[in-house]
Amino acid sequence: MSRPSAWVYDNDTAENFYSTTGWLTFAPTASETKTFTSGVADHWNIAAAMGKSLRRQMAGVTDPTFIAYTQPCACVTPPDRSCLCSGKLYIDSYGVDRKYIISHELGHAVAYVRNGNASASKDYTADPDNCVTDTARSHEAASKEYQSAAANEGIAHYYAAAVWNDTTESDCGFYYYKSIDWDLVEGNDPQEVDCEDAPMSGLANANYLEDLCDKPWLDLGTEWDWLRFFWDLTTDEGVSTEHIFDLWDESNPDTWTSTANSDTADTGDPEVNMRYAADNHVPDLLKEWDAQAATNGIDH
Ligand SMILES: [Zn+2]
Repeated sequence: MSRPSAWVYDNDTAENFYSTTGWLTFAPTASETKTFTSGVADHWNIAAAMGKSLRRQMAGVTDPTFIAYTQPCACVTPPDRSCLCSGKLYIDSYGVDRKYIISHELGHAVAYVRNGNASASKDYTADPDNCVTDTARSHEAASKEYQSAAANEGIAHYYAAAVWNDTTESDCGFYYYKSIDWDLVEGNDPQEVDCEDAPMSGLANANYLEDLCDKPWLDLGTEWDWLRFFWDLTTDEGVSTEHIFDLWDESNPDTWTSTANSDTADTGDPEVNMRYAADNHVPDLLKEWDAQAATNGIDH
């Protein structure tokens, strides 16, 4: 089987790899071992996290080359933070030594490749209606968002969780890289959290949306609920990471709309499209889907 690879460049114009000079002159002699130590390079951190991620979870991709730049996201003006932009990872200075960021962005890239090199059609402009830490952000792990945005981020979080946890066990750890107020009471809460149960004590173990966000819920969801939903599909229902990305592809995410408000197939409602994909998948995954969807609050 052919395997994907990861290449890391300095930026998207020069496209240089990292290089360093060990010795200006070096003449090897027989049977000699020389050890060369270089400084830590951002490129190597990113390549290490991407390589490890792909080794642990290929998620049904075969042989594409995933490309990353040590550069802030070029898809926003001015360039900022980390993102997937035109299928390439942009990892900023904050992200270069945070493996959950790198694997999250790679998760977006895997989803992009699995869906025939197409991003999801997603909308980050829903009114979070006070279910958010920082209203200046377009989205965060527990903000109330349109399902298209929540699912799009949720599957990237899930990919990171599936890489850095053991999917044969149900417990799940996650380092969330943005400051966050999970309980919406006061101040910032832990960022190193449980992604199987509640992120902090006092909150429900599932269904953050209905636990903490006011109605309306129709066509809305949270990234964290989608993460725990996918994690439960894998660890409680035995649905592999590859099959979850099959459902992603087969739900035609590039055709999603933010307010489809319909229960018929392929009309653009993210969770409805994906549920139909589960029903049509070989093997049939509808029973597994229905066992976890409402529990986790992604069925709106
Ligand atoms: Zn993302």
